[in-house]
This record gives sequence, structure tokens and C-alpha cells, in this order.
Amino acid sequence: MTTVKQLFDESRAASRPTLSFEIFPPKGDLDHRTAREVAGGLAPLGPDFISVTYSAGGCGNKHSTNDVAEIIQSDFDTVCVAHLTCAGATASSIAASIEDLRAHNIENVLALRGDVVPGIELGDYSFAKDIIPALVDEGFCVGAAAYTEGHIDCIDFNESLVHLKQKQDAGASFFVTQLFFDNECFYRFRDAAEKAGITIPITCGIMPFLSKAQVSRMIFMCGASLPSSIIKLLAKYEDDPASLRKAGIEYACGQLEDLKENGAEGLHIYTMNAYDIASAAMDALRK
Ligand code: FAD
Repeated sequence: MTTVKQLFDESRAASRPTLSFEIFPPKGDLDHRTAREVAGGLAPLGPDFISVTYSAGGCGNKHSTNDVAEIIQSDFDTVCVAHLTCAGATASSIAASIEDLRAHNIENVLALRGDVVPGIELGDYSFAKDIIPALVDEGFCVGAAAYTEGHIDCIDFNESLVHLKQKQDAGASFFVTQLFFDNECFYRFRDAAEKAGITIPITCGIMPFLSKAQVSRMIFMCGASLPSSIIKLLAKYEDDPASLRKAGIEYACGQLEDLKENGAEGLHIYTMNAYDIASAAMDALRK
């Protein structure tokens, strides 16, 4: 299997961005048929890789991440990244997770802290940077999260760049950004990251807005800026969910095209397991 680092190296050499998808494991107990349906819809669109979330936002079951990743790799011959969080983990639970990753033939891992649940101890790891060396030492290709406007808990943007650099220094080979709706935020972040010594590829996470509720959840969860053009579209299509979905996908495709034109090294589409989102994005990028 190819590592994501190799894919980024190839894309850099060819001066083209990597195109990738994020999916979440189907909700509830893993049903392999549903997982195959999701993967089977998206993998034929030809992304460079697909990443699979780990118990994110209450969606899916953390025990099914590696199963889904293995299905994508073996049944659809597509490079896969399994997400792994460390909040609340112990050294021995991470050792068990590493065993499980190996048992599923997974080579690429997105190392995350995970959200901190009030009242629950962090465990042996305070930050994502703390699990990266263990994964790298075990031979995994490791990526980490980046935040174009800083992480929601970190008020000082420059401090968030220091934390980002710590993840690179710990052995991360690539970054995937949190969603953003304003490309100017990414361009400012990319310049600042370069000045802060970030040299590994950064792929841009793009999620279409689909409803007012989803957008307000995202801006409060991630602190992403909301351009007035989106606010106007949300107001215009408030009572027309189908038109709003169409407008959200078109807006995201516009973001992707602009990022590609402006030299983004990677474009990572938060597909929410939806074929229409993934295929519209690929069509826009292959124009
Ligand atoms: P960290 O890099 O550890 O940062 C967490 C906070 O600590 C930040 O505020 C940071 O600035 C601060 N910090 C870092 N280092 C230091 C230091 N040395 N000293 C002081 N402060 C420090 N969550 C899931 O549960 N499952 C998923 O699958 C998932 N996938 C994601 C994919 C992407 C691309 C992104 C961007 C996020 C994802 N998340 C997922 C959410 C993520 O878990 C949360 O954003 C979490 O709050 C932070 O994770 P992190 O890995 O960025 O943490």
C-alpha cells in the first residue's frame, strides 16, 4: 500500500493538489454492507485517499473506524487514513489501538487529541503531539489536524502555530485543516505557517454548508469565520432546503476551484458520506 506521504510527494513533484475525502463510519453497530455501500459510492470517484473518522461528534462507533478503513483499502484499492484520538487514552490502550491498526493493515493514521469532555480525565496524553512519536516509531505515516484560524480553545493565533510546529517536530508528515468557509483565512494561515517553519504539506478541509443549524454548530464548534455571502444564502433559502443544499455545494466547489488555482497542496472534502457532495467536488476539480 502507498503511504499518504508518498502521495503528497508525487503531487508536489507534479505540481497538482491531492484530492481526498473524509467519511465517517455508518452510525450504530457496524453493518459491513452499509460501509461497503458508502465506500463503493465514493471510492470509484478516484480520490487519492479517503480518511475515516474516529467516533467524531457522536457519529459512528470508534471500533468500526479500522474495519471501514480496511474495507476501503482491500475492496476498493484506495489508500486510507484511519483517525485516532488520544483524549482519555492510556499508554496501554494506545498500544492496543496500534495492534488493531496493524491487524487491519492500516499504514496511515491521523493523530488527534479529540474533544475534551468536561469531568473526564485526559489520560496519559495531553495533546495530539504526544501520541505522534509512538505511531511514527511503529512505522505509521502520521498526519495531524491544523486550524486556519487557530483551535477554538487557543485564543492566541501565534501560539497555535507553535503547537502546530510541535506536531511536525513530533513526526507528522502532513496536516489536514479544520473546515473553513473563507479562503482568505487559509491563505493568511499558509503564509504564517510557512514563516513558523511548517514545511510538510497542508491539505484544505472543505465542507459544504447544508443548513442554518449545521453552520451554527460548526462555527461555535470550530470558530470558523462566516462570510456575509453565506449568511445571505442561508437567509435566502431558509425555507427551501433543496436549494440551500445546492447553494452550499456550489459554494464549496467554488472554494475548491479557487484553492486549486492558488496552489493549495491538497483538497480534502468533508463528504458527510454523501455521493452528491463528493461527485460535485470532483467534477469541479477536474474541469
Ligand atoms: P491538539 O493538537 O492536541 O490541540 C488541542 C488544543 O491544545 C489546542 O487548543 C492547541 O492549541 C492546544 N495545545 C496543543 N499543544 C499544546 C501545548 N504544548 N501546550 C499548550 N496547549 C497546547 N475528533 C474526533 O473525535 N474524531 C475524529 O475523527 C476527528 N477528526 C478530525 C479531523 C480533522 C482534520 C480535524 C481538524 C479535527 C478532527 N477532530 C476529530 C476534532 C479534534 O479532535 C478536535 O478539534 C480537538 O479539540 C483537538 O484535536 P487536535 O488533534 O487538534 O489537538
